[in-house]
Amino acid sequence: MMENIDAVKNIRLFLFDMDGTLYIGNRLFDFTKELLERIRESGSRYLFMTNNSSKSVDDYVKKLKGLGIDADREDFITSSQATALYLKENRPNDRLYVCGTQSLKKELCGEGFTITESIEDTDCIVMGFDTELNFKKLEDVCKILLTKNVGYIATNPDLVCPTEYGSVPDCGSVCEMIYNATKMRPIVIGKPQPEMPLIAMKKYGVDKAETAVIGDRIYTDIKSGIAAGALSILVMSGECDRQTLVSSDVKPDLVIDSAKEILDILKS
Ligand SMILES: [Mg+2]
Repeated sequence: MMENIDAVKNIRLFLFDMDGTLYIGNRLFDFTKELLERIRESGSRYLFMTNNSSKSVDDYVKKLKGLGIDADREDFITSSQATALYLKENRPNDRLYVCGTQSLKKELCGEGFTITESIEDTDCIVMGFDTELNFKKLEDVCKILLTKNVGYIATNPDLVCPTEYGSVPDCGSVCEMIYNATKMRPIVIGKPQPEMPLIAMKKYGVDKAETAVIGDRIYTDIKSGIAAGALSILVMSGECDRQTLVSSDVKPDLVIDSAKEILDILKS
């Protein structure tokens, strides 16, 4: 059953998708600054939640500053952080072969993991959105999967990443290339899995009944919110159109034109 927008009044932790929800490309929505300020003033918390594992948190802080939003490292939950936490809980002593950017390697290294480029030494493969991908890495991943019994994890399932001129292949597409060669698929951590919202709730000690996930993609943002038991709010200011919403099996708890409606409720 669809919730009423008043449900937003009970929320203490707002987990925002960024592109399509708070801005589009390099254009900040006109309500975004006020919305974030309002949430903070009310004593609630917001976090930016992103599947993109090619950028480090510092890159995102810079991007938001450029758009006029004052953010710091603590304001983010990324699929790289969620992957690091997953690995800590499930494969704490693994040596990792990372098919990802230097920035992802740095993040995992910072969490205490040993990064290796040796096929022999690898205990687990981590696939990210690798904007530094080359054939050697693809070959190594296949060789490891086909000759060893190792863990196989991916930061995010996205097939493509939007750019100003259209889309480029993301982590999910590279994993499909690997699947074609090895018939193996990784455990995927980012949205639509519930890991990011769950980690955020745990970190701030907020119950799922007081948590909302807000985003413009049903198959990632909304799915992860529902899977985590949070209030899922679809905004129609980004990728999703009416036709996609109507034909989707996944039903958000709330559908709003844009996150401005959250601001309006918080002000009322
Ligand atoms: Mg989005």
